[in-house]
Amino acid sequence: MDFESWVLEQSPFDGYGSCPVASCSGLAASPLKLCRWHELFYQREGRPGGAVLPEKWARYYEVYGKPVPVTYADRRQFDQWSRTARSETLHGQLNLRGLRPLMKAEIQWGLFKHTEGDRARWPLPWVQDLVNFCRDRDLGSLADMDVNQCTHFTQMIARETLNELRLIYFTPETTREAGFIETDHFGIRFPGRISHYDLTGVSQRWLRDVLWDYLAAILRSPKCPRTGATFDHARRGIVSLSAFLEADAREGGHDPNLLQAKHMETAWNRICCWNDPNRRRSRPGCWNDATVTCSSSPESTMKRTCCTGGSTAWTGSSPCLRWSQKSGESQCRRRTLGLKHSRCSSAGVG
Ligand SMILES: [Zn+2]
Repeated sequence: MDFESWVLEQSPFDGYGSCPVASCSGLAASPLKLCRWHELFYQREGRPGGAVLPEKWARYYEVYGKPVPVTYADRRQFDQWSRTARSETLHGQLNLRGLRPLMKAEIQWGLFKHTEGDRARWPLPWVQDLVNFCRDRDLGSLADMDVNQCTHFTQMIARETLNELRLIYFTPETTREAGFIETDHFGIRFPGRISHYDLTGVSQRWLRDVLWDYLAAILRSPKCPRTGATFDHARRGIVSLSAFLEADAREGGHDPNLLQAKHMETAWNRICCWNDPNRRRSRPGCWNDATVTCSSSPESTMKRTCCTGGSTAWTGSSPCLRWSQKSGESQCRRRTLGLKHSRCSSAGVG
């Protein structure tokens, strides 16, 4: 009988099943249930859990069709190791095995979006580090990930992927609720910027909504600026105004019904003091390091205000407030009516 004829008559042995390592697609090479590569890796790792086969197991057990007993010093440790062990890295391939389905889809989407446009280079080992990080922690989504625990490069990849996912998981309406705006939702991407624009520095919810509506109106306008400078200016101004109200107005300015024109007058006076170092020193009641108090977050209030400065606070916030008072948004108009000030001359988004 020739070899070809003999092979055709043979039937396969049962085998030992699949390698239990979550990221491995290999077949088990022995009753230990590990593939050949992971058997070697298990030895190199110091055999966690102490799983061993009997000596000469093939001769004394398998030949006679007996089941081969495996003994463990700590079965739980072995199972833990086999779930999370690293797999062989193949050149040019990314191993996504063992990831939760949603996590896998999120990383695939992030990789796909990264191929669009002129983006930074992502070496595969960096991406694999992110995959391994998520797999080791059995994360269901990138949103569950604490990016600060990763290495710098893994953080960079995770943050960019999260930015892309945010465009899918959030609608424009839900971004307003969450305290940010995505320029991509309006078909606009400013040069050198990402789509995400954080507005949570504004602590008063009503004021944050006014800012969101104003920025959305800019993005919808045919006169939308070509750069993000207008956005930066408006946010800086409203964040500063928010800090002024937090420190000065009743209930931190969180209830717009309690706000009156005098609050804006006071804010303006303090801005003037801020701009004039002599007045700032001579008037202890004005805005300075010693007098700023805020029941909710004094440190953040001070930081926000010091970073922005007075004039910026005014010139940045006034276009937004003027727009809200003149806009057709009755809610916006009502909310900012109390803050009406003589300096709020007519202006608006084109
Ligand atoms: Zn394996």
